[in-house]
Amino acid sequence: MFDVVIIGAGPAGSHTARRLGELGYRVVVVEEHKQIGEPACCTGILGKDCLDEFPIPPELIWLQTGTARFYTPSGSSFTLSKEPAQAYILDRVGLDRALAARAEKAGVEYLLHNKAHEITWKNTGVEVTIKNGGPPSKLEAKAAVLACGPSNLLARGLGWGDIGDWVLGAQAEVELRSAPEVEVYMGQNIAPGFFAWLVPTTPGMALAGLLCRQNPAGRIKTFLDKLCKDGKILSSQVKISYGRVPLQPRQKTYGERVLAVGDVAGQVKPTTAGGIYYGFLGAEIAAQVLHHALQRNDFSAQFLSRYQREWKKRLGKEIRVGYWARRYYETLNDKQIEDVVNHLRNSGFLQSVYQSQEFSFDWHSIAIIKTLGAKALPHLLKTLAGSLLPGNRRRKNGGDEEETEEGLG
Ligand SMILES: Cc1cc2nc3c(=O)[nH]c(=O)nc-3n(C[C@H](O)[C@H](O)[C@H](O)COP(=O)(O)OP(=O)(O)OC[C@H]3O[C@@H](n4cnc5c(N)ncnc54)[C@H](O)[C@@H]3O)c2cc1C
Repeated sequence: MFDVVIIGAGPAGSHTARRLGELGYRVVVVEEHKQIGEPACCTGILGKDCLDEFPIPPELIWLQTGTARFYTPSGSSFTLSKEPAQAYILDRVGLDRALAARAEKAGVEYLLHNKAHEITWKNTGVEVTIKNGGPPSKLEAKAAVLACGPSNLLARGLGWGDIGDWVLGAQAEVELRSAPEVEVYMGQNIAPGFFAWLVPTTPGMALAGLLCRQNPAGRIKTFLDKLCKDGKILSSQVKISYGRVPLQPRQKTYGERVLAVGDVAGQVKPTTAGGIYYGFLGAEIAAQVLHHALQRNDFSAQFLSRYQREWKKRLGKEIRVGYWARRYYETLNDKQIEDVVNHLRNSGFLQSVYQSQEFSFDWHSIAIIKTLGAKALPHLLKTLAGSLLPGNRRRKNGGDEEETEEGLG
């Protein structure tokens, strides 16, 4: 019998596994794909705070930068710049593999090309039913960790409900015609309510992607055509990958003998939909709580509830404030975005917040609260009052598995 079975070999799963392996526990990670890290749909941007706390092998870092050019809906642009670098662009497939290799070094076993279908409870543990094309087999463990990314199915099967709100993502690797800096595009025509990006990676290459609520396939095509027309990329006929990211935490992320970490728990920044760092933080806490549970042989839901309390203590406010800011941004039309951005920019406020010591790529609530406390407040509230008129409704239960499949078409 294993001590812990972990479902999913993404960053959250492999980090939890490694920590438990280092503590001497017998851990197995079950991954449905044949290769760790593939298929990938992620830009691999991490902030400085994340790398300071969770060092990454330097060879996985493609680029470090403190500069980004922002395009407003009208097409005008401005640059925000800061030294030292605030963001690191990583080889995301390489990251997943490096994390798994570290876990294996700590004694963790990996079962690839095996999909977990069900978790059932026994007297002394859990049984995870896995399939790899043949007849199902079962893995027994004292506890299980769901680290299965944005997939809802297992958590739903445990009666933990659905994540309240999701965003869809589309991304492609593109060949650059010129060598741009990181570019961020705003506006209804490109990524309504969210943003699109062109992020240089290896020499001559970049990732172009966007987040949106509907029709990512159509929107990414339009965006790639635009980049082509603007002379930024060589071709828009490229392979596109799709994903989705939770914008809100799952209501329940623990139960008897089971915890959820990473995307499946909703440990994501709602402002940018970046989830790797928060997933690492969730994984750290999950491993510590499971360590205590294994020492005490107490896997009751009551004991494991401290996991949710602790991760919400660390991330809850950030996610709440970030989600509020995200919803506010989504209510703005192009003219309002233009107004707000110009106001914040012309007053020097954007650059000064970005330059300030407190600004962090990973913790946005301070910048959001500062914005509200600044001279910009009356202007923002005036815009908000206009944007909350009927018709700017809030989307709820934004995507269960079936809806997303449809949305991707
Ligand atoms: C377009 C796009 C761009 C993004 N860019 C960034 C970025 O720049 N920076 C950032 O921080 N975040 C980014 N994200 C979000 C980031 O990709 C996720 O937050 C992160 O991957 C979550 O890690 P995870 O370990 O929780 O899940 P995942 O990385 O999704 O890993 C889950 C693993 O579980 C496996 N799995 C699922 N179900 C089962 C099952 N039943 N049995 C066995 N295995 C299973 C999957 O195959 C997968 O390998 C982006 C997302 C998208 C869509």
